[in-house]
Amino acid sequence: MSSATRPLDGSLAAPTRNAAETRFGSRETPLVFRSVPTLHVEWGVHRRLGQFFAECFAERRILIVTDHHLRAAGILDPALESLEGAGFAITVFDGVVADPPESVLANAVQLAREAGTNIVLGLGGGSSMDIAKLVAVLAVSEQHLSELYGIDRVRGKRVPLVQMPTTAGTGSEATNISILTTGESSKSGIIAQQLYADRVILDAELACGMPPLLTAATGIDAIVHAIEAYTSQNRKNPMSDMFAREALRLMTGNLITACRVGHDRDAREAMMLGANLAGQAFANAPVAAVHALAYPLGGLFHIAHGLSNALMLMPVLRFNMVTAAALYAELGDAVLGPTAAPTVERAEAFVSFIGQLLVDSGCPLRLRDVEVPEKSLPSLARDAMLQTRLLVNNPRAMTEQDALSLYREAY
Ligand SMILES: [Zn+2]
Repeated sequence: MSSATRPLDGSLAAPTRNAAETRFGSRETPLVFRSVPTLHVEWGVHRRLGQFFAECFAERRILIVTDHHLRAAGILDPALESLEGAGFAITVFDGVVADPPESVLANAVQLAREAGTNIVLGLGGGSSMDIAKLVAVLAVSEQHLSELYGIDRVRGKRVPLVQMPTTAGTGSEATNISILTTGESSKSGIIAQQLYADRVILDAELACGMPPLLTAATGIDAIVHAIEAYTSQNRKNPMSDMFAREALRLMTGNLITACRVGHDRDAREAMMLGANLAGQAFANAPVAAVHALAYPLGGLFHIAHGLSNALMLMPVLRFNMVTAAALYAELGDAVLGPTAAPTVERAEAFVSFIGQLLVDSGCPLRLRDVEVPEKSLPSLARDAMLQTRLLVNNPRAMTEQDALSLYREAY
């Protein structure tokens, strides 16, 4: 019997089917799981990238989309050398910034067109990969960017697209979503089938140079992706569940080592793969209130996405306990091993395990620690309520008053 059917007191109920089994796979609600067709995992592959690309693609003019920090740190150099050695013509766009505005995309597209780019390689964090998706479309499209916002507005084909993350966090390489900053603090998304890459390359050696706090914040973001996908009220299904559980198992077991011993190969590889699996989970079963409450922190105070999620995770987990205890208990079984304890006990063990993980990661966990003024909490709560596309996925309905209480709890 599935643990999801156990009543809260832990006694045994009559066997019933798992909700996910009854909700999906019918003609009315087919189970559709989408992902990138090829995932290649290889330690150090960036140093033989020329050979890799030559085996996969006939095209020869590559645009690498990245940021200037990575370029200045010399992380690109072995990859560039290898690609040029294999006869590829390389153009580098290193103008990507966090929360990229439309102008960054426009500059990248112009460069791609001037260079006659016929392959795009996104190499970096989530912002670089988000820009790479849209450059691959707009390099050969007649459509204007303004026509693309929303769901499935992209027409026609794009040039081949390869994504290679250098952080273990956003999971952007696994999704078909691209987010741009369109106003002072507002963001808009483009979701389209064409934004799935042709290939994703995971080379965890690229993440070895990440400092501990960035490792912690990006890793916690990915952990949130897995938890929120597993409890999502929309399109949660047995496959997204499977990816979310394994992502959590890999990441919760390796986050602290990755933070403390940055060059630990096993920990870096587990985090890189875990973040990708979490990305595949939430691309199909979308994230919820942690992200809804995190976004205003980024919009109003420019707090990085991973850190914003880390700040709001524990208050939201405790808030959701009322309705999501059975799901948290299942995640606890996946991460801590199954026990015969009652559901609520197993759920609480999971939530306190995550709480301890956050403390051990060294990530700031209070809004006051990152200089959010207390008087701004009501406006944060107001902004969070605007994230309706995320809030509808939360296992417990949330009012503005609830949101305010959660920001207070996090303060
Ligand atoms: Zn996220």
